[in-house]
Amino acid sequence: MSDKPKESCSSNCACHGAPSEGLFNRRNLLKGAGATLGVAAFAKAMAPLTEWKESVSVDEFLQTHYRELSKAQLDEVIARLEQETKDQYGADVTIEDVRPQKGVKFGYALNLSVCVGCRRCAKACHEENNHDRASGNSYITVLEMSKGSMDMEHGNAHYNHPVPQPDKFYMPVQCQQCENPPCVDVCPVEATWKEEDGIVVVDYNWCIGCRYCEAACPYHARRFNWTKPEIPKEEINPKQSYLSNRIRPQGVMEKCTFCLHRTRKGQLPACLEACPTGARVFGNLLDPTSEIRTILANKRVFVLKEELGTRPNFFYFFDK
Ligand code: SF4
Ligand code: SF4
Repeated sequence: MSDKPKESCSSNCACHGAPSEGLFNRRNLLKGAGATLGVAAFAKAMAPLTEWKESVSVDEFLQTHYRELSKAQLDEVIARLEQETKDQYGADVTIEDVRPQKGVKFGYALNLSVCVGCRRCAKACHEENNHDRASGNSYITVLEMSKGSMDMEHGNAHYNHPVPQPDKFYMPVQCQQCENPPCVDVCPVEATWKEEDGIVVVDYNWCIGCRYCEAACPYHARRFNWTKPEIPKEEINPKQSYLSNRIRPQGVMEKCTFCLHRTRKGQLPACLEACPTGARVFGNLLDPTSEIRTILANKRVFVLKEELGTRPNFFYFFDK
């Protein structure tokens, strides 16, 4: 499964010359680290895992990485997850394994001239992606920016007044689905990767909750599940997929997937459908006739923090 080059192994490498299969095995990592540090020190060092270790089921702990599961194994895992949702939330849900389509690479563009900062996109994300209700979590942060400034680090994510304000503009930020995603590079167990259609995903059942990827993301796009998500049964979106909006376990990382459970089936992301001003444009970057390609060809688009070399597939523009 690992596509890391073997020549990167050093004498200090945890593989000790073992075959590459299983090198980044989550259980090997935990076992090795526990033996080196001792249980107490290891638990302290990997604090989020303390919760995770208590809540995880034996079946989940023994589960194979998504990319190594056979069809039959994945069907079994999905059946178990659907049953767990029924047992824990009382909800009947369908979890699909929705794969990338050939010839498709997704891109998103946002017209900052017409975004009014209403946060309806963030609310739609909250509902579509089965986020914990108490925290109000969303994969989208709408920043209120002073006109003339483009530094997202100076944006106000916590504004609480009528919008739009006359001297401000509004910049929604979510995962930029980077071409060179630093979050992927730092994951010690390969629980996160970039798919063929450009979407960066997480196997929630493989993630060990170390939060390295959260620290590596320059766009603050990753979210950590500090608690078991609480959602009333009647509010759960039952149309779910394994790599996107199924209810995530406590102690793991999650992020925007461009609503892959919708977009890989030809639908639009929930945030786009909720936008009342038409500020959002989504589509296939490989299709020269797509609206997103028209935007890229005709508007002066820019990306956030271009100097970092992450090469986002999320673009911004002003059209007046
Ligand atoms: S928290 Fe991020 S870096 Fe750590 S295992 Fe999970 S996906 Fe990988
Ligand atoms: S925006 Fe952040 S989470 Fe998304 S791909 Fe880039 S580095 Fe990763």
